Amino acid sequence: MTVRFRALAATLLVAAAVTACSGERTGFGGAAAPAAEQVPTTATTPAAVAATATNPLMADVSLPRAGCALPQWSRFEEGVREWFATALECLDRSWEPVLRKLKLPWATPKFEISVEVTSSDCDVPHENSFHCAGSIHIVPKSYLSTRTGPDGQPAVAFAMLAHEYAHHVQWLSGTSTAAQRERKDAGRDTPAGLEVSRRLELQAQCLSGMYLAATVDPTTLALAAEDNRNRGDYAGRDRDHGTPENSGAWFVRGAERNLLSACNTWMAAPDAVA
Ligand SMILES: [Zn+2]
Repeated sequence: MTVRFRALAATLLVAAAVTACSGERTGFGGAAAPAAEQVPTTATTPAAVAATATNPLMADVSLPRAGCALPQWSRFEEGVREWFATALECLDRSWEPVLRKLKLPWATPKFEISVEVTSSDCDVPHENSFHCAGSIHIVPKSYLSTRTGPDGQPAVAFAMLAHEYAHHVQWLSGTSTAAQRERKDAGRDTPAGLEVSRRLELQAQCLSGMYLAATVDPTTLALAAEDNRNRGDYAGRDRDHGTPENSGAWFVRGAERNLLSACNTWMAAPDAVA
């Protein structure tokens, strides 16, 4: 493929300055580059809380049950754009009231889809879709590569977008800022530093499971869960996302419990975040 999709609807609504992106990216695979993040806050808007286990994002709050009327799945650029733009609107509608309830900042993410893993703003990642400082970058091969086959692609794409959106929520809340600090303090690629990365990724798995279960039909949810059980840290990869078993388990936990507090990977036993 040579076509490169340009940015979709991409307006960051927060008036506060969001400076040139230098944030740590968090995605489905690959290592992240160390950098500081900037969460949008102003004196008059709710502030992010730089904490992990004690972040307001760990409250006993559920996502509202709501459908999402998505366009027909398409393999063509225009259809793909429309599909993701609609899915993103659905995610916004579900997450905005939650963040406002928690008195955390909210802003719709910037969004870009590209056949190349690249970014003009953020550190260029190795592979796969990722979130970086308020921007979601989707790389089609990351959902086209699913083992669930062509019929599973819409479900997998939706789960992938929900995972990256979960990173956006973590970023807005201050969770990922705190996690980066913890990882840096522990030593970025030390066992303790990698465990911090896994707790962040697996929390995103759980939050995406919450969202999918609150939004899609059981068949779609089952396809997404199957795909998630096949992602994560395989042998030979960095141990920064969690085993495929744990990736699937946290997704399912979020789907079954629909409680932010059930996604508190920061308090989970080491085996659960291996
Ligand atoms: Zn991720």
